[in-house]
Amino acid sequence: MSEYVKIFDTTLRDGEEAPGFALTSPQKLEMAHQLARLGLDVLEAGFPAASEEEFATVQRIAREVRSPIIAALAPPVEAEIDRVWDAIKQAERPRIHTFLTAADVHQQGALGRERAKARAAAMVARARNLTNEVEFSPIDATRSDWAYVSELFGAVIDAGATTVNIPDTCGFAQPDELAAMVTYMFENVSNIARATLSVHCHNDLGLAVANSLAAIKAGVRQVHCCMNGIGERAGNAALEEIVMALSVRRDQHAVDHGINLDQLLPTSIMLQQFTGVTVQPNKAIVGLNAYARDKNGLHGEAMVEDARTYGLHSGRDTLRQRLADLGLLLTQDELNYAFAGYMSLTDYQGEVTDEDLVQIAQNGRRAADGVFDAIGHVYR
Ligand code: MN
Repeated sequence: MSEYVKIFDTTLRDGEEAPGFALTSPQKLEMAHQLARLGLDVLEAGFPAASEEEFATVQRIAREVRSPIIAALAPPVEAEIDRVWDAIKQAERPRIHTFLTAADVHQQGALGRERAKARAAAMVARARNLTNEVEFSPIDATRSDWAYVSELFGAVIDAGATTVNIPDTCGFAQPDELAAMVTYMFENVSNIARATLSVHCHNDLGLAVANSLAAIKAGVRQVHCCMNGIGERAGNAALEEIVMALSVRRDQHAVDHGINLDQLLPTSIMLQQFTGVTVQPNKAIVGLNAYARDKNGLHGEAMVEDARTYGLHSGRDTLRQRLADLGLLLTQDELNYAFAGYMSLTDYQGEVTDEDLVQIAQNGRRAADGVFDAIGHVYR
């Protein structure tokens, strides 16, 4: 039987927290449903401690989104553990994800370390009394003393942690170094077999995906990642790049994953549409050029054909009129592409604003030029 690596997606927590990637509550819910279609193992829905609205959003995701484990991040404080439980307890399989801050993980003094370790264990035990799925992350672990990190893991696993995660919070690690750290944990955490070892890689040096893959080779069976690699600074490891590497180079990695590859592009496009942040054209897997087609390639035609089969001539006339009111006059070709974008946007949001219309018109023009498809994705 081959091994399996769990895909833990934190697009809606670590990704969405980053400046420029904010989503509204309805967008998060829609995104969560799409992430479930993608076939995630774990969906980190948010950080309920951040605000009342975030709490409510996480709660809705936990109630409505089925199949993945629904995780939420809880500060290592009793009241916050309990509050996160309130947010996720209606999920099919709720997971409490708690952590120790970098300050605690960087402690040098023996006394401070003992105190931090005891607190981590107590918080994990409290969470484990509430649910069978508990994950623990010592922030900035890769820049800390590995021996201390291994002691922390041992203590929290004894307290009931089912997953222990190594965050490379600042994107500092090198692939062979992170692999060595993973090996060190397998060799030095005596109860490691009772938990899943995981990594959380940031991309500050452009190595988040390489580091994640090196960690998988060294034996971790869960990776944290974000769609399109979004996240703070240079972002998190890109989900689509990790799973495509695992699929295309199965000869190298020999692990299975549960992601539906045909849902990668729709998920990527939905996120681009919601955040308004388009991936760079040469972005691996989901970038515009990565999906290059002939100028009159199949995809663009399919989009237009779709719009036709809907038979929504009246919808197109309405769009034409709204664009004309804004002074945007499109050729029939441009309008066809713009209409496909308009249709896809109305799937996601009830109201299409004038700003959206300007974007839709621009994308329609680019699509007609054979550069972008109508939802902002480049094809040539
Ligand atoms: Mn992070």
